[in-house]
Amino acid sequence: MSSKRAVVTGGAGFLGSHLCDALLAEDWNVVVLDNLLTGRRANLAHLQHEPRFEFVEKDICEPFDVGKVDYVFHFASPASPVDYSIHGIPTLKVGSLGTFNALDVAHKYNAKYLVSSTSECYGDPLEHPQKETYWGNVNSIGPRSVYDEAKRFTEAVTMAYRRYHKVETRIVRIFNTYGPRMQLNDGRVVPNFMKQALRGEPLTVYGDGNQTRSFCYVSDEIDGFLRLSKSDEFMPVNIGNPKEFTILECAQTVLKVTGSKSEIIYEPLPPDDPKQRCPDITKARQLLGWEPRIDLETGLRKSLDYFQTALTQEASIK
Ligand code: UDP
Repeated sequence: MSSKRAVVTGGAGFLGSHLCDALLAEDWNVVVLDNLLTGRRANLAHLQHEPRFEFVEKDICEPFDVGKVDYVFHFASPASPVDYSIHGIPTLKVGSLGTFNALDVAHKYNAKYLVSSTSECYGDPLEHPQKETYWGNVNSIGPRSVYDEAKRFTEAVTMAYRRYHKVETRIVRIFNTYGPRMQLNDGRVVPNFMKQALRGEPLTVYGDGNQTRSFCYVSDEIDGFLRLSKSDEFMPVNIGNPKEFTILECAQTVLKVTGSKSEIIYEPLPPDDPKQRCPDITKARQLLGWEPRIDLETGLRKSLDYFQTALTQEASIK
């Protein structure tokens, strides 16, 4: 049995739980810390009899020590605009206090460390597509600032532990990602549209629908994380799909994949909603040999079962 041991903060979340699966598949022992603020036990239910897996319900804003680990994957944070607007102060705390605590564990055990950062570091970007060298256009006092500035601070603390304590750090800037285990009600565009289409309700496009996002299927995203974790790159790396869609195109693709006859309606654009977002992934291609493989339509088809089942379960609970 392998002796490699990793701790995943936020491992009960959408991306954290898929990361746990990937680490277990690569022979790691995995311990998850999660306070279940936005994560869910259901995301880890399939691992309950896995001897190399352990779950601890814990808020990492308090110092923690789970014994010796070789890798710290710091993924704890609310991450959807709806979640971080409801949980603004916990978002700021986990990005700051939680990050110090995660880095202290890496420092103590001489473990490597990889943190999930975000394309939100670029704000409403004036450079397009966004390269890692772009410093961003972030509103430090707007409603999204609780997340954007928390993650920018997370990056600053991470670089400081590298400079002052020689911790071996990695920073991944994650762009819009979708797939099974997304929360139905986190307000993000893919779960919203899938839920609305499958229920035959109108799809709610915010603004005129010409704002863009680029959507990465979860298995591609996780592959990027693992490659980065094994590389020597300590400066931030964008991991996201460079194929850009307008939100209206995304709605039309959801209608096609679900075969739904729902209409599209228009609602007000939330404040500070970025007009465009698309990663420049030259660095990931060159350094990691990484390239996303799954296009939006294929990824939505792969996610269909999950959303159908989740909706049925939700209906049976009500
Ligand atoms: N959006 C939309 N309808 C919805 C949910 C979101 O038009 O029901 C838009 C939202 O305004 C944004 C884009 O879809 O322009 C992506 O939103 P999401 O909340 O998924 O994440 P973001 O990229 O803004 O962090």
